[in-house]
Amino acid sequence: MAEGQGDYRILHEAALRDYLAEQPDLVTLLGAEPVSWSITEVGDGNLNLVFIVKGDRGGVAVKQALPYVRLVGESWPLPLSRAHYEYLSLSKQAQLAPGLVPALRHHNEALALTVMELLEPHIIMRKGMVAGTQYPRFVDDITTFMARTLFFTSDLALSAAEKKQGIAAFAGNHALCKITEDLIFTDPYRIAEQNRWTAPYLDALAADLRDDMDLHVAISRLKLKFMASPEALLHGDLHTGSIMVTDSQTRVIDPEFAFYGPMGFDVGAVLANLLMAYFASAGHERLPGERRAFEAWVLETVEQVWTEFARKFLDLWRAGAAGDAYPASLFAGEKGAARLEAERQAYMQRLFADTVGFAAAKTIRRIFGLAHNIDFELIEDPKRRAISEARAVRLARAMMLEAGAFPTIADVTGAARKLRDWQPEFAAG
Ligand code: ADP
Ligand code: MG
Repeated sequence: MAEGQGDYRILHEAALRDYLAEQPDLVTLLGAEPVSWSITEVGDGNLNLVFIVKGDRGGVAVKQALPYVRLVGESWPLPLSRAHYEYLSLSKQAQLAPGLVPALRHHNEALALTVMELLEPHIIMRKGMVAGTQYPRFVDDITTFMARTLFFTSDLALSAAEKKQGIAAFAGNHALCKITEDLIFTDPYRIAEQNRWTAPYLDALAADLRDDMDLHVAISRLKLKFMASPEALLHGDLHTGSIMVTDSQTRVIDPEFAFYGPMGFDVGAVLANLLMAYFASAGHERLPGERRAFEAWVLETVEQVWTEFARKFLDLWRAGAAGDAYPASLFAGEKGAARLEAERQAYMQRLFADTVGFAAAKTIRRIFGLAHNIDFELIEDPKRRAISEARAVRLARAMMLEAGAFPTIADVTGAARKLRDWQPEFAAG
């Protein structure tokens, strides 16, 4: 819809009701009595307002960007255009991975407002995992989502012109990229006002991060890769707080960080958040049998997320790579086919190494940076929390510094399993 610029205003309950009541399609969806609609603000995220609106016929979720970072306040401005990029990427994802994102109902660019399908009774996957719930559909759904959105927006599937148009369409989302560049790839490794960690237990580890030049080189290489490798359209924030689930459904939400970047960043985000849930499990109250089953499921899920993602991605590549990369004319005949297949394997090996590095970066920032996650935060006893966090950090450091020690996903889960009962020095005191 072509609303003029400068029409932005924050729509709280009454204004939102009036606005929605003026949209005939939404009135049809919700029910004809706007006064009877219930409107509840549910945004538990860091950046935006989210309202759930329910009428007698149906419901919708309404997301509106604020001109600043919600978590911090007006002192940290952030462009409203992120709502445009979220809408654009949701549309693309809906086309490439049907049924795995909420359906779009309405968008108003000037208001930075999007109305979408109400996901109910879905819950945020992170919350479910903190409660120890297993999600049997997750592997298949998330790997379909990642394989299809990443493959079909890459040079393997697109012409060079289409690919560059895609990059251009998202290039303006640089303010959101900058948040990632600062909060994930820089701040945890230097003194920054917004850093925090579980003191005093992790003080020494935090000091190590600021002092270790090998780590500074490793995180800087990852940062450069994030900035300078437009491989595919990323979700850009694919953690378990951006995934809503039931037993039988998975929906990926909140792609406002979308841009063309390195594929391993999305895959690594999923793996990192599973691994953090694994290490957090020891800190939560849980019956021993349930704990064992949950942790076994998480590690199995880590393995399957990678293997199924890689299988699906390779299948798409083998089935029809219409893109300008790897021209078919250079790989004709049996010799060409064999060589191209070897190259596909090498490509996946390189993507796996990226994934391991980005997973490590995503872990460290959740423990020392601004935005923490409830997997750890809900472990009330700080020492217990710090023990879980220290195990995750130990794995993450190894993954970042000794990439060669993790040639396969089984090496990652094997290392995680070994650290499950590892006691950091401060645990004894
Ligand atoms: P933010 O960008 O501020 O992080 P999110 O897109 O993550 O906002 O949404 C914040 C919260 O709103 C989610 O954690 C979820 O609880 C709820 N939510 C978002 N979209 C929907 C939806 N389509 N249906 C139901 N609840 C939703
Ligand atoms: Mg968000």
